[in-house]
Amino acid sequence: MSDSTSPPVSTVDSPYAELQRELRHIATLQSISGTLGWDQETYMPPAAAPLRAEQLSAVSSLAHERLISARVGELIAACEADTAVTGDEDEAANLRAIRHDHERATRLPTSLVRELAEASALGMHAWREARERNDFAAFAPHLVTLLGLNRQRAECMGVPEGGETYDALLEDYEPGMRAAELRRVFTALRGELTPLIRAVAESPHRPDTSWQSIPLAVERQAAFNRSVLERMGFDFSAGRLDVSAHPFCESPGPGDTRLTTRYSEDELAGALTASMHEAGHGLYEQGLPKAARFGQPLGEATSTGIHESQSRMWENFVGRGRPFWEWALPQMKRDVEVPAVQALDVETVWRGMNVVAPNLVRIESDEATYNLHIMLRFDLELAMLSGDLAVADLPGAWNDRIRADLGLEVPSDAMGCMQDIHWSMGAFGYFPTYTLGNLYAAQFWATIRAELPSLDEEIRAGDFAPLLGWLRANVHAHGRRYTAPELCRRITGQPLSHEPLIAYLREKLGPIYGV
Ligand code: ZN
Repeated sequence: MSDSTSPPVSTVDSPYAELQRELRHIATLQSISGTLGWDQETYMPPAAAPLRAEQLSAVSSLAHERLISARVGELIAACEADTAVTGDEDEAANLRAIRHDHERATRLPTSLVRELAEASALGMHAWREARERNDFAAFAPHLVTLLGLNRQRAECMGVPEGGETYDALLEDYEPGMRAAELRRVFTALRGELTPLIRAVAESPHRPDTSWQSIPLAVERQAAFNRSVLERMGFDFSAGRLDVSAHPFCESPGPGDTRLTTRYSEDELAGALTASMHEAGHGLYEQGLPKAARFGQPLGEATSTGIHESQSRMWENFVGRGRPFWEWALPQMKRDVEVPAVQALDVETVWRGMNVVAPNLVRIESDEATYNLHIMLRFDLELAMLSGDLAVADLPGAWNDRIRADLGLEVPSDAMGCMQDIHWSMGAFGYFPTYTLGNLYAAQFWATIRAELPSLDEEIRAGDFAPLLGWLRANVHAHGRRYTAPELCRRITGQPLSHEPLIAYLREKLGPIYGV
């Protein structure tokens, strides 16, 4: 049966059409996990946690089984023999990425998948309790188990030729990136960042941040945040902005991109920067060609680092820039009748938004010192995976490095090596993507400024459409057609480099700190 709105039913489907249907079905299952995960972090009652864990595990194993099924393998092989697919540049790129995902998924024995899922659930639980009690010894055995399982996982995935164990794990987040390349770029970045941070620390200038504690009711902050996000181009008919303890962006599928932020009555711009960050992720999700390509690589983000480049661009390059505040502060004054807000000036706010000061906590760190936090984690996770650093020695190694890099004493492991959730869930290879986000954002930003010479005036007028249009055309529209290193070369004409980020930081921090 078909009516006039249904596509004609073909009795002989091409393998590629059948494969796309399978992938859409798998993506639909995964999108259920996405919606459940969002609900878990926002509105779910706490007592529903055990049921939610079962729901998530049931849905994700269905999706995994379907992806590794023999039928999907046969369809991929049939498509690879079909010149109608391989002869088309887009579809060939799509198919290569499908093959890549299918192979990685099938290389993992189901027993290891299950062991990893259990160890990470137990690890996160133990981490929460151990962090609460500042008891690293209670968490250490879980970390040992997770490292062991991830070494096994890397072996199953296969270490690329000339590469190392870490590369096999990094591939989950940054396809095509290698630890050796990260070392090269991070070492160069560190070489210039450390003296810059030292010069800032020694500068007599201290931007005024007291205005951040002007109290502003949550409802008024929420209304202001929403108006900024609308102006940025975030489509609220296909998205939401809610509240959670840790802000995130979850996009289950086409037409559904959900952001969260957190409000504090004594941090005037804190929620705004968090919202703009997540909206950067959300704009990428809304800009991907998902409607036509749901479940297909060309409809997905190319890497975690590129995703982070989008969020950091809106949060930092736009949202901490002077042109942005020349537009946003008058908006805020118009919406908020608080006298202390009315008395603010752009110069004070802009300087206060760009304070650089060492912080023990990664997520509270500024644009410059943040990267030292990431390099520390990258080096220590490499050393733990290779066995050069015993888990028992992690706290000492961490504290030494914080002292050397940031000049701070770590008062407790809870504020030190147990501050982040990533290792407790077995995510090794994730941390570098944050600094990759900063690096890609800076490198793209330099190109954008050259290609959009009136960018500052547009932002000053609250017109973000040219910037969003550029990102849509150059980043979002491609999905996974290019890997992150390929995309970087394509957009900027250069391989990944530390130089644009250093140049950007110098240009901004120069007038603020006289460095
Ligand atoms: Zn992010």
